[in-house]
Amino acid sequence: MTFEYNKINAKCMWCKRTKNPHPDFLKETIPTKIFESKKGRKIELCFSCFEQERENSEKQKIDFETLLDTKLEVLKLLNL
Ligand SMILES: [Zn+2]
Repeated sequence: MTFEYNKINAKCMWCKRTKNPHPDFLKETIPTKIFESKKGRKIELCFSCFEQERENSEKQKIDFETLLDTKLEVLKLLNL
C-alpha cells in the first residue's frame, strides 16, 4: 500500500483535509492515495480514512470498492 506524499492539490474526499496532520510535516500536503470504486470512480483518501473504510468493509463484509460508492453517494445526497 503506497500513499503519495506531498502531492500537489492533495485532498481527502472524505475528511476534506489537505494538510499533513503530522507535526513534522506541517508544510506538506496530506498523503493520499487514489482508489477506484466498484463503479469506476476515482476516490482520493488519506490514510486514516482508508483505514476506517477498510475496517468498515471487514465488519460489514462488504467489498471495499463497493463501500466507496455507497459512501460517495451518501455524501452527494447530503451535499457535503
Ligand atoms: Zn481523510
